[in-house]
Amino acid sequence: MPTLGIDLGGTFARAAVVDGGGKMLASAKVALAERSPTGVVETIAQAAAAAVKGAGVPVSSCGVGAAAQIHKDSGVLSVAPNLGWRNVPLGQMLTARLGQPVRVVNDLAAAAWGELHAGAGRGASDLLVVFVGSGVGSAIIANAKLLDGAGGVAGELGHIKVVPGGRRCGCGELGCLEAYAGGHNLITQTRELLAAGRSPKLVELTDGDPARVTPVTLELAAEAGEDASREVYERAAQFLALAVANQVTVLNPARLILGGGVLTHCVGMRRRVVEGVQSWASQVSREGLLITESELGDDSGIIGAALLAA
Ligand SMILES: [Zn+2]
Repeated sequence: MPTLGIDLGGTFARAAVVDGGGKMLASAKVALAERSPTGVVETIAQAAAAAVKGAGVPVSSCGVGAAAQIHKDSGVLSVAPNLGWRNVPLGQMLTARLGQPVRVVNDLAAAAWGELHAGAGRGASDLLVVFVGSGVGSAIIANAKLLDGAGGVAGELGHIKVVPGGRRCGCGELGCLEAYAGGHNLITQTRELLAAGRSPKLVELTDGDPARVTPVTLELAAEAGEDASREVYERAAQFLALAVANQVTVLNPARLILGGGVLTHCVGMRRRVVEGVQSWASQVSREGLLITESELGDDSGIIGAALLAA
C-alpha cells in the first residue's frame, strides 16, 4: 500500500502519496499559517488530506522529514531552529491527529533514504549526502542503513565547530559550520558587509537594498575580486569544503551526493566543495568515490520520508 510522506519546512508543509517504488502519486503544499505545534499539526493534516484525495488511494502509514534534531525513538523534536521549537512531541501529536502510525526523522535522513532507494544513490550501500540550503545538513547511509547514532542525531555536519567561540548558530551554540556557510547565515553576513559600508560591489548588485541579498550576490561580489566579500565567501567555502572532505576521510562513502539551494545556485561554492574533497580527503578514502548531484532534488525528503514509513 502507498504511504504518506511529509516535508516540514520553516514556511510550509508538503505532503505526498508515494508508492513502494518511490514514485509520487499526488502531492499538496500548504503554507504554515502559524508556527505553534498545534497549528503546524493542523496544516500538515490539511496537506495530507489534500494529497490523499488527489491520489485517490488509501495510505498505510506516514513519514515526516523535519529540519530538526529528533530523538529517534520518541519522535520528539529536540531543537527545530526554523520553527523556534524545543522538545515538541510531533510524532505523538501527528499519530493522534492522523490516526495512523507516524515516523518522524531529520529532513536530511529522509533525503538520503530517498536518494538511496529512488535517486542518485541507487545501487550503492554507502552514501554521504550533504545539502546546503538555508542550513547545512548531512546524512550518512552505511551498509544500506541510516546511521542515526545513540540519540538519533548522527551526521549533523552543520553543527560541527569550525571556530571555537565563533558566530552564534541557529541551534544556539557558537562557531558551527552552519553559522558561516548556511544560506541563511551567508545572507546575514553579506547584509553585515552592506550595512558596514564595506562593499561598493554589493551596493551595486543590490541597489543597496538588504532585502535583495542572496548567497549568489555574495558569490558574485567575491568573484569580482572585492576584498570584504571575498573574505566572508572564502571563509565559508573553505570551512564547508574542509568539513565535507574530512567527512569523506572518516566515512569512505561510495557516493557523495550534493544538493540544496546554495550548492545548486552558487556554482563556485559547489566547485570549491568538489575540489576540496579531491584535494583534502585522504587518497584512499576517495579512490572510487563518485561525487554527484541529488537526483530527486526538492522531492528527495518527501519521497524518503514516505519510504521510511513503509
Ligand atoms: Zn549549530
